[in-house]
Formats: sequence, structure tokens, C-alpha cells
Amino acid sequence: MLELDAGSNPTEHTTDDTVSTPTSQLKKLSSLVCGQSFIAQQDFRMVHHAITGDAIYQVSSQGIDNKAIVEFAKSKGSAIAQMTFHERAHALKQVAQYLLERKENYYELAKATGCTRKDAWIDIEGGIGTLFAYSSLVRRELSDETAWVEDAWIPLSKHGSFGAKHILTPKAGVAVHIDAFNFPIWGMLEKIAPTLLAGVPCIVKPATEGAEMTHAVVADILASGFLPEGALQLICGQTYDLFEHLNAQDTVTFTGSAATGQKLRAHPHLNQYSIPFSMEADSVNSAILTQHANDETIDLFVREVFREMTTKAGQKCTAIRRAFVPENLLDTVQSRLIAKLQKVVVGNPELENVTMGALASIQQKHDVAKKVEQLSQDADIVFGSHLRQDFNIVAEHPEKGAFYPPTVLVCKSPNTAQAIHQVEAFGPVVTLMPYSDLTELAQLVAKGEGSLVASVVRNTDENVEHIIAKIAPWHGRVHVLDAENAKESTGHGSPLPLLVHGGPGRAGGGEELGGLRAVKHYMQRTAIQGSPNAMTQIGHSWTIGSEVFEDRVHPFKKSFDELRVGERLLTARRTVTEADIVNFACLSGDHFYAHMDKIAAADSLFGDRVAHGYFIVSAAAGLFVDAAPGPVIANYGMDNLRFVEPVKIGDTIQVELTCKQKTPKPLRDPEQKPHGVVVWDIKVKNQRNELVATYDILTLVNRD
Ligand code: NAP
Repeated sequence: MLELDAGSNPTEHTTDDTVSTPTSQLKKLSSLVCGQSFIAQQDFRMVHHAITGDAIYQVSSQGIDNKAIVEFAKSKGSAIAQMTFHERAHALKQVAQYLLERKENYYELAKATGCTRKDAWIDIEGGIGTLFAYSSLVRRELSDETAWVEDAWIPLSKHGSFGAKHILTPKAGVAVHIDAFNFPIWGMLEKIAPTLLAGVPCIVKPATEGAEMTHAVVADILASGFLPEGALQLICGQTYDLFEHLNAQDTVTFTGSAATGQKLRAHPHLNQYSIPFSMEADSVNSAILTQHANDETIDLFVREVFREMTTKAGQKCTAIRRAFVPENLLDTVQSRLIAKLQKVVVGNPELENVTMGALASIQQKHDVAKKVEQLSQDADIVFGSHLRQDFNIVAEHPEKGAFYPPTVLVCKSPNTAQAIHQVEAFGPVVTLMPYSDLTELAQLVAKGEGSLVASVVRNTDENVEHIIAKIAPWHGRVHVLDAENAKESTGHGSPLPLLVHGGPGRAGGGEELGGLRAVKHYMQRTAIQGSPNAMTQIGHSWTIGSEVFEDRVHPFKKSFDELRVGERLLTARRTVTEADIVNFACLSGDHFYAHMDKIAAADSLFGDRVAHGYFIVSAAAGLFVDAAPGPVIANYGMDNLRFVEPVKIGDTIQVELTCKQKTPKPLRDPEQKPHGVVVWDIKVKNQRNELVATYDILTLVNRD
């Protein structure tokens, strides 16, 4: 066991479950820090089985040495910053595969959190899927470098000797991720994936409820050996003085209640060192049924609300809490929703026929009941709630589990209501409310003061542009559902790796996921100013105006490893003739007047017939390609094509081909021949040395 300082100052952290000494031989969950397991001696919090109510393990981090943990991350874990994007992505993919092979262990642990297997799938395989998605995104989109050159040359001088590029480098710090109880695996993996890909080590602090699942996954990741030591550490318990050891290169993210988030965000140390704090908190998400909804649309709406209430027993930060319905359809929606909810069987998910499990803990059950009381000051409970007498629970000891019935409230006067728009009952609870027109609807949605997601459920032929314009500023994501996409829609409640997850105001103001955007959160953007040569050296990507090398050997005869960034080929010239234009028109079928009709072309922008842009691209290839078999395997694509000046009959073109960037490709299987992608800068110029076309081509080139 680790020798740690016992004298750290705990941050204020109240809980009803704190016990001063361990009362039994229950498993003590360790923290996985500084390359070892740390087990506390006191201040344990007991975690109970959500279905049976039995105490199952205890959690404490009392006495943990946060200073050592932060130093370990920065000294050892920072090795991840030395790895390239592709190496990080490859490591992440291996981690994902390793976890997938062990997923049944996590499903087993998930039973104690009260969820069904389908619910657990979102957390376990949704989380592992996020690792896979991020790994392949980075391998596809980013160069195999440690830093990220964000944009092309920004010229800042008349003669081209001074300019700039923005470069992103991994922050020289650590990211502390504090997670909520509802997704102990996905909640961690969706945060650590972009962090590790950015090249920054992580310290994860899961919620005490469900921490056993996070622990199992982190223990497996560490055992896999795919990440550098110190790149991932886990604190199970409280954070104590952790924030006081952070500095200006560090980041904190938080998912949980607004009350806790606001308290943590106000920590003086974070303020003093301008440490970014990204928060995802309570969100009173909406679903909107449009005014002209037909019967099919009403059913879609009801199905979506039903799904959001019952999946994970409504314990999703994205779940629908407020359902806005045209006033004339309120009764119809209410009766159809209740008809579906009456068929829900709540109980132990291991028993047959059970369709909805329990909340995560008895504490959550009390919390939801309290929140429903608050909501009922504005609304009538029309179905369910803890007051429901006929609530049948399918479990051996229903009184011991954290079961809560699906609950529907109706608020007839949402304009004057408050709690409905502010209180998030984190369970299977929804409030239906009527609206009369778009203006009123927009005002009601805005009363939520910022949410993660809203769904607009419409008839397929309905234009909802105006609704979107009104509600989009209040949301991080808007899901437009209709009969056309219903079968394939990923649903209201699913945050996806490529789409942003977060929302303004009450939802915390943070932003997660969203593809590569999330990776940038852990990197520092710096505008680097200098000469083209300095920029080529810094970014490993040839910059216009920097040194070029010419060689008698054609660059297409050189292997990936022989090629140098800046290697240049200046081709022979070619004069464009009328025959070229006519032949190309016949070959391609493109007889556009600007190429073929002398009279119309005379009245056009160009004043004369011009060559097809695609002919120029083809003729350029004819000038720069080396025809003989060699290391170039294939043309991989073309980027950033611009036709700058027209090419007229009699103009003479010439091409400059410059090796701009080289990226080795990871091998899919050991049989594959090693190769890489070479990006070539292409400039086509005319006899007056004017640029007529510019673009990048990408070729696959064999390695030595
Ligand atoms: P919470 O009590 O705010 O806890 C969230 C995280 O913060 C947990 O890891 C918790 O650890 C930690 N924490 C609490 N006090 C802390 C302190 N003083 N210093 C450092 N860390 C501290 O939230 P929760 O229990 O997980 O969920 C409660 C509510 O949050 C839900 O009912 C729901 O309303 C909301 N929620 C929102 C989202 C969202 O993304 N919008 C997601 C989940 C939950 P411990 O567990 O060890 O206390």
C-alpha cells in the first residue's frame, strides 16, 4: 500500500452515508494512483445494492496524497504528450478492444446499480464504442504528429517573409474528471478519450454510487499496459485538497448536480490560476409536439417521451423532463402516454417480464420523491409517483430496492409555473404542458434557462425552421424527429461522439464530445508568427514561401521514406489548344457555353472561351505524373481545389508539385505493405506566372 500524507484538508463534502469507521468486512474500494492501489483507513461511505438494499462495498480516499498524484501524472503520465496522435489513437483502440473482451464483468457489476441489461449497454458498450469512434476519428483526420497545425499560412507581410499559423499543443498539465453516478463507465470514457488523444494525462473521480464499475474498467485499462504509466489515475472517494495542487495548465470537468458544480467552480484556487472548469449539470430538457401534428406524429412523440422516461429509469442527463403539446392535443397525448406506461413492469431486471429497473440508490429515490413534491406545486400528478397505491414491484423484497414508478404530471398554466422549468427530478418523471402558439412555446422552452437537448417532433412535410431558430440558442443539441427518420434516429437521449454534448445556462455551460472539438479542449492554441521556413520546421508541413529542393530523380520514383518535405518538381509546359477543349468536352460530355459557345462566352464573365477547370486538373496530372510503376500506389484524393484565373485558348500552363506533408498509415494487418499518405501542394501557373489553379493531392506511397 502507498504511504500517504494523512493531513490533507478535505473540501466540504456532505453526505448522510458517511460512517466514521468501517462497520464490517465489506470490500473497500481502492484508489488507483501513483502506480499503486491506495486503501483508506477511515471515513468510509457505504454503497448499497439498488435492488436488494444490501451494503455491497465502501468507499473512502481519506489520507490520499493528492500532491503526489498530480506530480505522478505530470512526471510519468505526461509521456502521452510525446506520443503522436496516431500512437495515442492506436493505444486507445487497443484499450477499447481489451475492455470489450471483458464486458461481461461490467454487466455483472451493473446489476447492483438497478439497471436492465439494455440500460447497462448504453453505459458499457456505449462507452467502449466512444473510444473506438474517437480513435478512428483521430487516425482519419489528424496528422501523425504530437502537435496540431490548425490552419494554413496566414500572410502578414507584403513580400511573404512573415506570416503565422495557429498550432495546438497538449497542455502541460493534467485533466481532473469528476463524474456523476448515472453512467459510471461511459461518463468516464467519453471524457478520457479526447483528453488522452490530446496528449494529456487524466485523474478520474467517479461518483461514489457506481464507483465499483469505474474502478473495474480503470483497473483493466491499467492492467492492459497500453497507456503510459500515470496517464490515467482513479480516486475513489473524496477529492479533499486535490484542486489546491492544480496549476494553470490543468483542467477540471464536472458532471453532476448544479449545486455541487457551482460550489466547485467557485473554488478560489481555480479562479486564481484561471483553471478551466467545464460543467454539465441539471438540465430540464424539452420535447415539443408541433401544432399540426397528425396521428402518426403524436404516436412518435409519445413513444419518444415513454422511452426517455423508462430507459435507465429516467436517470439520464438528457432525458425529457418537459413535454410541450398543442393545447388541443393535450388529452390525447396524456391518455396515449399513460396507456403505454401502464404496461411497464418495474422490478428486479433479472426477473422475467421486468422492463424497468430501479434508481441507483435509496437516496436517489428519496430525492426524486422530493422533486416530484416540488413539481406538484405547479402541476397535477396524473399517473404514478410515490403516492401511487397500485404500484406493483416485481422483486423479492420490493421495500428494500430503490424502485420508483413512472410518473406523469400535467401543468395547465406553464406560463406562471416555476418549479416545472427549474427542477430536474432525476428519474422516470415527465410534465406535460400545453402551448397555444410559437411565441408562447419559445418563451416556455426558454424558461428552462438552458438545456442539453430538445426534440421537435413534426409531420414529415412540416417546416420547423422557425421553432429551431427560437430554441437553438438555449440548447447544445436539437433532435428533429419525424416519420422519415424515426426508424434510424439515434433518439432524443443519446449523446454521440461526433456531436456536441452540453448546454448553456442551467445545463452548466460546458461542452463535451463533438468530434475533434473535444480534443482541442485539452490543448493550448498558440498563434505562431515567423518566416515560412520557421513555420515548415515547427509544423512539419511545407509552408508556401519556404525552401524547396529539386532533384534529378522524379519524386514519384521515391519511397515515402526517401521523400523530403519541400521536395519540388517543376514540370514541362503545355499550351492549351481549341482541340484540347473540344476533345475534353466530347470525352466528358460537358458542353457548357463558356467552353464551347464563342458568342455566349464573349458575353460571359471571361469574355472568351475558356478551358474546363477539370481539364486543367487533368492536364496538370499529365504534366507531373511519372508513368512508370514505382512506389506511388494510388491517388487517394484531392483537397482545397480553387480555380483562380481562367485558362484561354493559347495559354501555356506549367505545374509546381511540392511535397507538403507525410503521414505514415497504421497497418490494418501484418500482411499489409507499410505505406503512408503524401500530401502534395499543386500550383498551376500560366505564361505570365499567374496562379490559375491550386489544390492538394494525396497519394499513397510505399515505404522502404
Ligand atoms: P453530485 O452530488 O453533484 O455529484 C457529482 C460528482 O461530484 C460525484 O462524483 C460526487 O462525488 C462529486 N462531488 C460531490 N461533492 C463534491 C465536492 N465537494 N468536491 C468534489 N467532488 C464532489 O451529483 P450526483 O449525485 O452524481 O447526481 C445528482 C444530480 O445531478 C442528479 O440527480 C441530476 O439532477 C444531476 N445530474 C446531471 C447530469 C448532467 O449531465 N446534466 C448528469 C448526472 C446527474 P460523490 O458521489 O463521492 O459525492
